[in-house]
Amino acid sequence: MKNTLYFLVAIIALSACKPKSEKNPTAEPQDISVDMQTVRKIDVHAHFKYPRTYLPTLFKKWNMQSVLVDVSKADSTGISRSWDAYVTHTAANPDLFFLCSSFIGVGIDEPDFAQQTIDRLSEEINAGARMVKVWKNFGMVTKDKNGTFIQIDDPRLQPIWDYLKDKDIPVIAHIAEPEQAWRPLDDPNNPHFGYYTNNPQYHAYKIPEIPSYETIIAARDRWIENNPELNILCAHLGSMSNHVERVAERLDKFPNMHVETAARFGDLARQDTKKVRAFFDQYQDRIMFGSDYGNSRLQETMSPAELEEEQINLDTNYETLWNYLSGTDSLVVRGQKTLGLGLSAELLSKVYYKNTANFLKLE
Ligand SMILES: [Zn+2]
Repeated sequence: MKNTLYFLVAIIALSACKPKSEKNPTAEPQDISVDMQTVRKIDVHAHFKYPRTYLPTLFKKWNMQSVLVDVSKADSTGISRSWDAYVTHTAANPDLFFLCSSFIGVGIDEPDFAQQTIDRLSEEINAGARMVKVWKNFGMVTKDKNGTFIQIDDPRLQPIWDYLKDKDIPVIAHIAEPEQAWRPLDDPNNPHFGYYTNNPQYHAYKIPEIPSYETIIAARDRWIENNPELNILCAHLGSMSNHVERVAERLDKFPNMHVETAARFGDLARQDTKKVRAFFDQYQDRIMFGSDYGNSRLQETMSPAELEEEQINLDTNYETLWNYLSGTDSLVVRGQKTLGLGLSAELLSKVYYKNTANFLKLE
C-alpha cells in the first residue's frame, strides 16, 4: 500500500513538475519517492578491515560497495598499515570492495625516499589499488630531520605526485582536522567533542607546536593548485565541513579538487538545510558519499551479541544518512537536529555512485 502510494506520488510529481530549478534549493516533495534499493551506492571512504558474515547481505540490502582506505601511521613498532588485511578482504569479496593504498612522510630526508615510495605504490597499484591516501600526519604529526612538520606541499613529495598523475591514480587527502581541533572543547554538542576528548593527541589547541589550522590548509591549497592534473579527493569535506561556503570557494578555484562526506554529516546537519542543499546542487558532480565506517576487530574475537550490535549500528547509520540525503523530514544526525536535504534521484545517484565510479574509473 505504502509503495503504491509512493508510486502514485511519483507519477503525479513527474507529470506535474518541470525540471529541477537551479535557483530554488528548497527540498521537493516528489523526492520522497526515491527507492533506496534502486540507487546504486559506493562508500568512497570506508575501513572494513576484517570480514563479517553479515556484510555481504547488508551490502546487498543497501546496494552498496565500498573502497577500503588504507592509512599509514607511525607508532612505536614503525609504520603501521591495514593494507594486507584489506587485500585479503577484497580478494574474498571482489564484487563488494575496492582498494586504496597509502604512504607517510617518515624517512623523507633519505635521498631515495620518493623512489622507494613510488616503487611500493607501483606494486600496490598493480595489486589493485585505485587510489592513494595521505593522512593528517602530513601537517600535524610527522617531522623531518630538522624537526619541521612535513606539509603536504613539501617539494620532496613532488616526484610521487608526478608519478600518480602519470598513472592517472587519484589521491584521497585527509589533511588538517576540523577547525574545532584548534579550539577549546567547551561545547559538548559540537560533533567533534567526543573525538578530541578520546584522541587528545589530535587536539591541536592543547599542543601548541602543531602548526595552525590556517598554515596546514594553506599548504593543502598550494599543493592542489601546484598539481592541476592530479585528481584530488579532499576527505571529510576538506576539513571545512562546518562552513560549506569555504569548501565551495576551493571547488570554484581548483577544478582538480573533489570532496567526500565521511564522518562530517554532523557538521552539515548543523548548518542551514537550504544552504547545504544548494551546495549539493551546485557541486553535484564533485561530491562523493563517504562514511568512514569500518571495523578493527577480528570476527572470531567478538561475541554474537557484539556482532549483532555492530550490524544494527551499521544498518541504522546507513539509514540515517540515507534519510538525511534523500528525505525532507526532521531527523537527528550525529546528535544534531536537522531537516533532510531531499536530494533528487539524479543527485542521489551522482553522490552515492556515479561521481565515485567516474573518479576511480570503475566502468
Ligand atoms: Zn577514514
